[in-house]
Amino acid sequence: MSAEKTKVTVAKFGGSSMSDATAIKRSAKVAFDHMANVVVVSATYGTTNLLLKLVDTAITDSWKKCQEILSDIEDRHLKIASELEASPNIVEEMKTVLRELETITKGINLLKDCSPKAKDGIVSAGERLSSPLMTVALGELYEDKKVELFDVRKVIKTDDQFGSAVPDFNLIKTNSDKHLMGAKYGELVYVTQGFLGSNEAGTTTTLGRGGSDYSAALLAEGMGADLLEIWTDVAGIATTDPRVCETARPINEITFQEAAEMATMGAKILHPTTLTPAKRSGIPVFVGSSLEPDAPGTWIKEESKDAPLVRALANRKDQSLLTLSTPDMLHQHGFLFKIFEIFNRYQVSVDSITTSEISVALTIEDSTLLNKKLINELENFASVSVEEDLSLVSVIGNHINHTPGIAQKLFNALQEGDSKINVRMICHGASKHNFCFLVHEDDATMAIKRLHKEFIG
Ligand code: ADP
Ligand code: ASP
Ligand code: MG
Repeated sequence: MSAEKTKVTVAKFGGSSMSDATAIKRSAKVAFDHMANVVVVSATYGTTNLLLKLVDTAITDSWKKCQEILSDIEDRHLKIASELEASPNIVEEMKTVLRELETITKGINLLKDCSPKAKDGIVSAGERLSSPLMTVALGELYEDKKVELFDVRKVIKTDDQFGSAVPDFNLIKTNSDKHLMGAKYGELVYVTQGFLGSNEAGTTTTLGRGGSDYSAALLAEGMGADLLEIWTDVAGIATTDPRVCETARPINEITFQEAAEMATMGAKILHPTTLTPAKRSGIPVFVGSSLEPDAPGTWIKEESKDAPLVRALANRKDQSLLTLSTPDMLHQHGFLFKIFEIFNRYQVSVDSITTSEISVALTIEDSTLLNKKLINELENFASVSVEEDLSLVSVIGNHINHTPGIAQKLFNALQEGDSKINVRMICHGASKHNFCFLVHEDDATMAIKRLHKEFIG
């Protein structure tokens, strides 16, 4: 895959493409070869998890334990900086982030409490530390252009929902026009942070785990880019997670609809909201491997050459099934309204739902159950039963809701052999791109393998 010279390209590199000096140099070469105008990076591999551990440790443990994690973060980043022969300015820039990290951690550790705002201050440090490293590696390759580190918080403006902030597209557009024109017209190359933004007051926010893909798409939209490239550790989107099913094979071309369905239904390769800005602005997306940049990868476009009945399988983990039952539901109106009003108030997203005369079954993320008040409120209207540790397995493709016999084929495949897979809930008919069902998480891999064999081969 090669980009044409005239194209404005935003390229994003995920954590595994930023794991050490070698990976960063390799990724920089990919960005250089593809003439990326803006390069968006994730934190180095494992750093965001380490920062989350730092938050937990600061709340629950000693300052000494916090210092151990802080030193680990500092050592791994300064080691890469030294291997890349970063200038003293860049090292100073990184040390400023490290000092800030230490100060916030100290505050949390003293209070033994962490506000969502402070947590975003900490987790955002990963990208603030990795982006200077990419700036150095990319700067080494360019002779005719200046490579600059750009603070993404000047452009990605969001609301105040720390941890899962919602971007303001209009402001992003205005700010892109204001700040990114140098990169758009090719005089400069900007390296910037994925995952973070800032609210109206300028305080750092984050877009949710895996959010760097979304950041890159927002910047591509804001700049009016011609192409968005997502570089990761697998050569494009496959028919299912290649780590789960060895017969998974790469997909060369897929529609926005199908890929968005995959991302929403758990395919980790893309953050679920990534494709919204790209689709809205008609920007094609390429997904490829920074390890094998010449492999064909996957093109995500408005339309694709083929529209198979089953394109892919996805698995959304950590699901709970809530079953609400009450005879009051029979021939009554307003019951669903009442319970959804409660979910709305607690800002809980319901992923799938089925109803009968006297009961409603719906799925939510396992972590939502930590909020006992939500369940108590629901119990005012109905008896509530909860099943945890489930997985929502999806069959994704085209015309799925209008194809006779697909359900029968699917259930036959799940029941084949000695170990029959118990299906807890089915959602079929609402989407022409998706048929999903709920199984115990221990059965999800087997369900995917069997369905892959049956529908994809
Ligand atoms: P990055 O750090 O580059 O953002 P991620 O780990 O977030 O990378 O996403 C890449 C991973 O997504 C792959 O290693 C793979 O295990 C997983 N994945 C899940 N579903 C798919 C799929 N359908 N095709 C390819 N990869 C998938
Ligand atoms: N570093 C963040 C995370 O690990 C964002 C990203 O990598 O996309 O979730
Ligand atoms: Mg990712």
